[in-house]
Amino acid sequence: MVVANQKGGVGKTTTTVNLAASLALHGSRVLVIDLDPQGNASTALGIDHHAEVPSIYDVLVESKPLSEVVQPVPDVEGLFCAPATIDLAGAEIELVSLVARESRLQRAIQAYEQPLDYVLIDCPPSLGLLTVNALVAGNEVLIPIQCEYYALEGLGQLLRNVDLVRGHLNPTLHVSTILLTMYDGRTRLASQVAEEVRNHFGDEVLRTSIPRSVRISEAPSYGQTVLTYDPGSSGALSYLEAAREMALRGVSVQLDGRHGHVGAQNGRQNMAEGIQ
Ligand code: ATP
Ligand code: MG
Repeated sequence: MVVANQKGGVGKTTTTVNLAASLALHGSRVLVIDLDPQGNASTALGIDHHAEVPSIYDVLVESKPLSEVVQPVPDVEGLFCAPATIDLAGAEIELVSLVARESRLQRAIQAYEQPLDYVLIDCPPSLGLLTVNALVAGNEVLIPIQCEYYALEGLGQLLRNVDLVRGHLNPTLHVSTILLTMYDGRTRLASQVAEEVRNHFGDEVLRTSIPRSVRISEAPSYGQTVLTYDPGSSGALSYLEAAREMALRGVSVQLDGRHGHVGAQNGRQNMAEGIQ
């Protein structure tokens, strides 16, 4: 599942790490791929990502096997992370001259031998070659939308890119999930944006929206997701609920068919049973 929106600061990373932790805490095996040179997902998961750490840059540019960079996330069993270091900032340019530049991440994931139920890819706030690699590698796109005035501006461009990648490189790709983030029920603007998004996207929008929550924004500074930092907080509960909705809908990466592994079905079932 590709978590993408070229608008910055809409909650891509927060959504990636907290949904991943929610799924893992309920028995799924989940890999987070940090595809943003900022390395925010790695930080939030407490994964070391200074310049010497083997990272997703090595996978994309140096063809290192994904298994050599994946690290287990402390505190959350079944959760793994392929970290991003600052090297990745050069990858957009370095990839241009490499063969199969759009499908390097797809190949790396296909060659990954460990059983997984979900792979979540945290994209940078751009539509460059890194995001294209994610779209080629994924089955589904999850778009977090912040409940603010400019929320829908620029979305057309993202949707056109998804169509282009589906048409030319990855026929099964589709936008499966929209998640409203940083929702502040006290403002009329938030409910108006939410209504507009629901009118536009219909069933793809999860019923659960993520409230604006101080606990969610504090957690990364402790190298934690909100699920371990403050499990009873409204932010943690909303991500658990969003993950449950996804699991019950049968949203999945279907690793069994595409990548030669089994487990997606079982993982979804665990998740659905575990948090009802
Ligand atoms: P970028 O485009 O830079 O990668 P992003 O889309 O990944 O950004 P995040 O980093 O997840 O966005 O979130 C942006 C900021 O908003 C962060 O400081 C994060 O802690 C905060 N934030 C995200 N979700 C919430 C929330 N529900 N409540 C409060 N703060 C939030
Ligand atoms: Mg981010």
